[in-house]
Amino acid sequence: AKNSGRDNLQFFTPELNERVLRRLQLENDLRHAVERDELVLYYQPRIDARTGALAGVESLVRWMHPQRGLIPPADFIPIAEESGLIVGIGAWIIAEACSQHRHWRRAGIGAVPVSINLSAVQLREPGLCATLDAALRQHAVEPAQIELELTESILMDKVDDTIAVLRDIKALGCTISIDDFGSGYSSLSYLYRFPIDKLKIDRAFIQNMHSAPQNLAVTNAIIGLGHTLGLQVVAEGVERLEDVDLLRAAGCDELQGFYYSRALPAAEAQAWMAAHAAA
Ligand code: C2E
Ligand code: CA
Ligand code: CA
Ligand code: CA
Repeated sequence: AKNSGRDNLQFFTPELNERVLRRLQLENDLRHAVERDELVLYYQPRIDARTGALAGVESLVRWMHPQRGLIPPADFIPIAEESGLIVGIGAWIIAEACSQHRHWRRAGIGAVPVSINLSAVQLREPGLCATLDAALRQHAVEPAQIELELTESILMDKVDDTIAVLRDIKALGCTISIDDFGSGYSSLSYLYRFPIDKLKIDRAFIQNMHSAPQNLAVTNAIIGLGHTLGLQVVAEGVERLEDVDLLRAAGCDELQGFYYSRALPAAEAQAWMAAHAAA
C-alpha cells in the first residue's frame, strides 16, 4: 500500500487531475476566505402575499475569489461541508446576518427579519446554539427576527437528535423553516413532531406550476398541509405575475423570487427596501 501512491497516478487522466487540483486549491483558498474578508452575504426579499409588504429577507452567501471572481454557494458550500470549514464559515454567516440586521435597523429601514441557511454539518455541531446566542447578543438582535432554514433531507436524518437541536434553537427564540419542501423524502408522518414554523415549497414545483397542472396540485396540497399543521407557507422561485396570482389564490403566505427581486448585495437590498416601503 506504501507504493500505491505512485501506481495510482496512471489513473489520473489530465482532466481528472485538473479537477482534483482545482478542488484542492479551492479548499485551500477557502481556508483563508473568512479572515481575508472574501465572503459576502446577498439578500433576497420575501413578500407578504396578502399585503404585498416586505416580510423579510433571505441571506445567501457568495465568495468573492480574488482570481476566480464571484463563486456561487453551490460551488463551495459542499467543499466547506466536506472539509469541516463550514463550521467557521457558518459562524461568520450568522454573525454577519445579525450585524446587517442591526445596521438596517439603525439606518431607519426598520427591523427586517433575516433568514439564514444552515447546513447539515452545522446542525450536528454542538456549538451551534452558543454561536447563535453570542451573535444575537453582540448585535442586540431580537431572536424572533432570525429565521433558520434547514432542508427537508437534513431534518429526516437522525430525527430524534434533530428534534433536540431544533428545540434548543426555538428556546433561544428564533424561528425555523423547512427549505426545499417537497423535493426530498420527508416522512409526512414525522412532520408534526418537529418544532417548526414554516414550509418553503421547493422552487421546482413553483416554476412549472403555470404549465403543469400536477405541480399546481402539489403546491396546493403543500399549502393545505402546512396550514393544517399551523405552519406558514412560503413559495420560492416566483418568477411571473401568473405565479403570484396562482399562489395568492391558493392562500400561500409569503412569496420570494425573481419576480420581486434577485438576491442583492446589502446596500442594493437596502435601496430596494427603501423604495419598496415608499411605493
Ligand atoms: P436555497 O436556500 O434554496 O436558496 C434559493 C436559491 O434560489 C438562491 O440561489 C436564489 O438566488 C435562487 N432563486 C431565488 N429566486 C429565484 C427565482 O425566482 N428563480 C430561480 N431560478 N432561482 C431563484 P443561490 O444564492 O445560488 O443559493 C443556492 C443554494 O446554496 C441555496 O439554496 C442554499 O442551499 C445554499 N446556500 C446559499 N447561501 C447559503 C448559506 O449562507 N449557508 C448555507 N449552508 N447554504 C447556503
Ligand atoms: Ca465584509
Ligand atoms: Ca434557503
Ligand atoms: Ca430553497
